Amino acid sequence: MKEISARQRILILELLEEEYPSRYLAEKLYSFLRRKPNDEPIDSKLVEIWNHRFRRFRRYMSSEAYKFIKSQLVRPKKIDDEVWKIRIKNNTRVAFLLGAGASAPSGIPTVNGLLEELWERAKKIGRKDLDELVSWCKEKSINNIEDLLTAAYLSDFASDNTDLASLLHYFLFRKRRGEGEEELYPSSRFSLSDIDTSSIKFIQDTLQTLFGLLASTMIPADPNKVHESIVEFSSKVKDVSIITTNYDGCMDEATLKGGMQFECMVGDERQKRNSGAVKLLKMHGSINWSYCNSCQDFQEFDLLKMKKFYEEDTISYPVVGICKKCQGLRRPLLVPPLSFKFLQFPPLVQVWNSARRSIEDAEYLVIVGYSFSEADTYLTKIISRSMGRSPNQKMIVVDTNPKLVNTLRERFDAHIENFDKKRILKVCESCENMLPKVLNSMIGEGDAEKEETSTQSKKTSPKKKSRTKSNKS
Ligand SMILES: [Zn+2]
Repeated sequence: MKEISARQRILILELLEEEYPSRYLAEKLYSFLRRKPNDEPIDSKLVEIWNHRFRRFRRYMSSEAYKFIKSQLVRPKKIDDEVWKIRIKNNTRVAFLLGAGASAPSGIPTVNGLLEELWERAKKIGRKDLDELVSWCKEKSINNIEDLLTAAYLSDFASDNTDLASLLHYFLFRKRRGEGEEELYPSSRFSLSDIDTSSIKFIQDTLQTLFGLLASTMIPADPNKVHESIVEFSSKVKDVSIITTNYDGCMDEATLKGGMQFECMVGDERQKRNSGAVKLLKMHGSINWSYCNSCQDFQEFDLLKMKKFYEEDTISYPVVGICKKCQGLRRPLLVPPLSFKFLQFPPLVQVWNSARRSIEDAEYLVIVGYSFSEADTYLTKIISRSMGRSPNQKMIVVDTNPKLVNTLRERFDAHIENFDKKRILKVCESCENMLPKVLNSMIGEGDAEKEETSTQSKKTSPKKKSRTKSNKS
């Protein structure tokens, strides 16, 4: 890294000695920062001096100069102070929304991290059309599993419907030649008999199966501090809902181990609901749920048993099973990561409705490791609508992406009249480290505030406790 310049060293000395008047020093600081090359680092002493004396300097500066110096020397706070002031009652309604970031500390790969693994497994099947697909995607640098699964899904859907296939062809390949002159290209060479329906079916089916297989790698994952702290919080606060887009069983396991009951709201609406249980709403399904496409039977398997069998290697993960009721094919109920979500699974309607109600009823929404991606417009929309309707609803966003909160503030501000941006609170830290402190502080426990102030100034790295594993095989 480049060293600091002589100019900066002299400036720091002059600032420290304070022999010159503040007006002169303030001007000198402004002029130095404006001319400083981008690759010259700023000494921490300069930041320190500014933090102690900005009030004095401000008097001698235009607001433009003040803003500029602030932008150079003051790093945005990682955690909004307001977060530590929240105190909730035991009947405050709180909804959590967990995304991939909440499961990452348990060693679960993000969706796009699965693509390489998927190709590895595809190659082992030894089919020419699959091999061709793998090399074509690699050649074209297609590395988004969502795009891949979406294209396979759409093609499969269109290959069953010749009108749809020719319309798609028309839309995609219509080529304008000039004013008023349109030509269908390459219409002369395209015929519906060119569609290799059986291969499309095979590829779609295989990708789905492979995706189910990849989900099985999530079975042995253990819950982390995020899941554990939410369970601890739920044992003290009565009205908690947990909404997650993750398939893994970490939240389920943490809840069971914490001696609490949960209710998934999946399947039959007429089912008896347990009123005292925590709502655990798995928007995209779960590794221990299965669904028969023929008779629409839904099954939920014992997650802890499944994990035990998987670890002992006594029973393999049922990527495809036989439905006990109709002998049809039964597959894991997992909404694949498509670029836009189709509601393919009727048992999930109840889950989605319940999530919407939980979000709308909540006084606090705690968002953990959830990226608000384009593919999840449903959740983003209901959150935006809910924030618009309930002016007192607040949102705490725990995520390492430093831009996320600002993006959300801008987005809500554009949609909601007189939106108070302070309703979205930022916790830009690893959720595993910070969520437990935030939740403790919300219920008035722990030493969160003090701890926070010391980490802001000193940045000490907390010692990681080694995770204890129950299995020693
Ligand atoms: Zn069936």
